[in-house]
Amino acid sequence: MKLQNIRIVMVATTHPGNVGAAARAMHNMCIGRLALVDPQCPIGDIAYARASGANVILDNRETYADLRSAIADCSQVIATTARRRSLPWPELTPQEMAESVFALDDSRQVALVFGREHSGLSNDELQMCNQMVCIPTNPEFSSLNVASAIQVMCYEIYRYQTTPYAVPAPSGQDLPASSGEVEGYIEHLRQTLDDCGFLNPQQPEMIMQRLRRLYLRSELTHNEINILRGILSAFGKQRD
Ligand code: SAH
Repeated sequence: MKLQNIRIVMVATTHPGNVGAAARAMHNMCIGRLALVDPQCPIGDIAYARASGANVILDNRETYADLRSAIADCSQVIATTARRRSLPWPELTPQEMAESVFALDDSRQVALVFGREHSGLSNDELQMCNQMVCIPTNPEFSSLNVASAIQVMCYEIYRYQTTPYAVPAPSGQDLPASSGEVEGYIEHLRQTLDDCGFLNPQQPEMIMQRLRRLYLRSELTHNEINILRGILSAFGKQRD
């Protein structure tokens, strides 16, 4: 799936500032195609001001009379909604949405559809979509500004295509610390904490076990161990 095949569809948007902010969010995330369905506001100075230089997105916008024509050539149409419907709709998280979009081949066109500021998407419009995405939020306050919702969705797509959720490999020389290096550091830490009287002599292991868990969880690298040991040595020298 290429980013050029993904379009953002805004249905009956009433505030030009939201269209501008959406253009900015899209351009930040390298998504260029904006389709406006029955816009309820002029796309003029206010929209361009909020686009903050993402003029190219607004200049190339497409306008359609209804959702059906905006998505006619799309094989994947993804609705976004803050509200959970009673209808048994297949509902994805933004991350699952990105995964499903990138599972498609380059010939497919994808639309991400965003609703009205006041009432979202109608049930008829939802019926035209084959997936629904809900951005997880505070359950008591679940409705994002439409441009913010567009930002989140475009970010998920951009992030997926740059790093498909792979854990970044340690760069260059900085390899993961070996178990021996971690153990050496923990021993050095124990010695330092003991010397400065931080450990309870009756139960030194209690705190050390918790610290050990903390460091093992952190997936330290070789260079990070060197930094941590350097800090301990500097403290040690100061005490000498
Ligand atoms: N009161 C409306 C809120 C619309 S917000 C309603 O209840 O539907 C405008 C648009 O922003 C929504 O139609 C949807 O496209 C998007 N949006 C807002 N919050 C969202 C969320 N939590 N998850 C996904 N999309 C959201």
